[in-house]
Amino acid sequence: MPCFILDLHLHSKYSRGTSPQMDLENIYRWSKIKGIQVVGTGDFTHPQWFREIQKKLEPAEPGLFRLKKTLARKQDKTLPACLKNNQSRFILTAEISNIYKKHDQVRKMHNILVAPDLKTVSQINAELQKIGNLTADGRPILGLDSKKLLQITLKVNPDSFFIPAHIWTPWFSLFGSKSGFNTIEQAFEELSPHITAVETGLSSDPFMNWRLKALRKITLVSNSDAHSPLKLGREANLLNCPLNYHEIIKALKTNSVKMTGTIEFFPQEGKYHYDGHRSCGIRLTPEQTRRYKGLCPKCGRPVVVGVDYRVNELADFSQNSKPKKHKTVEYIIPLVEILAELKGAKTIGAGVLQKYHEIYSALGDEFSILRTISPKVIKQAGFPNLAIAINRLRRGRVYIEPGYDGVFGIIKVFSPKEQAQRISGQTSLF
Ligand SMILES: [Zn+2]
Ligand SMILES: [Zn+2]
Repeated sequence: MPCFILDLHLHSKYSRGTSPQMDLENIYRWSKIKGIQVVGTGDFTHPQWFREIQKKLEPAEPGLFRLKKTLARKQDKTLPACLKNNQSRFILTAEISNIYKKHDQVRKMHNILVAPDLKTVSQINAELQKIGNLTADGRPILGLDSKKLLQITLKVNPDSFFIPAHIWTPWFSLFGSKSGFNTIEQAFEELSPHITAVETGLSSDPFMNWRLKALRKITLVSNSDAHSPLKLGREANLLNCPLNYHEIIKALKTNSVKMTGTIEFFPQEGKYHYDGHRSCGIRLTPEQTRRYKGLCPKCGRPVVVGVDYRVNELADFSQNSKPKKHKTVEYIIPLVEILAELKGAKTIGAGVLQKYHEIYSALGDEFSILRTISPKVIKQAGFPNLAIAINRLRRGRVYIEPGYDGVFGIIKVFSPKEQAQRISGQTSLF
């Protein structure tokens, strides 16, 4: 059975704050560069984007789509030989921002929809159009109860799939500290059994989620939530099933062995991992936050509570507890970030991107480089420092500064001291 990588959650150029490069051609091209075999279309609720989907994609395996041949050929021409034959399929997905009142409180939740065919998408869109404006944003904001959205999705087609998105972000999520719920049942009531998967988001990993009893029983999925091509697959799912919609969704719905695991950001890199105030430059661990009674030691106002704190609040199990048997959890650092670090560059500029191009042209897609190609081969291809970095990454020997209040965390292969030594040429370390 083929093993493949699935990224369900991303946004098109019609979503706010998203790169104009997020069109179907670029998503196709970058899926090949990244090594993602099945990628979401994102934003199927947007009328113009849905028209592009219908015009540019054609049916492939049941429930999956591919870029039409003439368009695909044009993209393939721009790719190095080693990537041309990578498979790249689309699956119909969208994200809704639900804002509504429940039990006298304003609730804000994001939810991912996955659909098996174009007809289902048309019908879902027709229903949602009655409720709000689908043209304003690729991720529409609807004054609609999440439970009602689930109801609509299932009524249109029981084969469609519903996943609460990035369930721990403080704003806009199922368990968010600002406007979420404490349990799945509070949000979905008698329809809760239909919630068979949740997206863990960038700021949490499966181990954090498994501290909740309720989340040990369902599937944890990870997706990129990409707003630009380079960010595709920064988190993803590992599947081992026949390549078609129904097998994929069955694996996700039942949490079967065919859903083998996830590829993860280090959760500390997420911008809401720890607590604090960005404007005050105050970052607190959950313990420190408790000690300060939730107030910022600099300005005295309540701190923005991060994901780690919130998980602690809702957890049934202690920090180091984990299920006896669990799915694969692989941590990665995006290859461009590793390359920027090796170069001593603060940002990902043209030089880093040039190197990135050089490396995937020589070795193959990014996931293969990060996950499977042996460091020896990487070294022999002429990238000895990258080989060292990849080796460290795979062993989890990385340097971590957790993110907080909207500030991304820092994950490096080398500690600041090692990096200083490396840059000044004291390479004795290696
Ligand atoms: Zn979202
Ligand atoms: Zn403050």
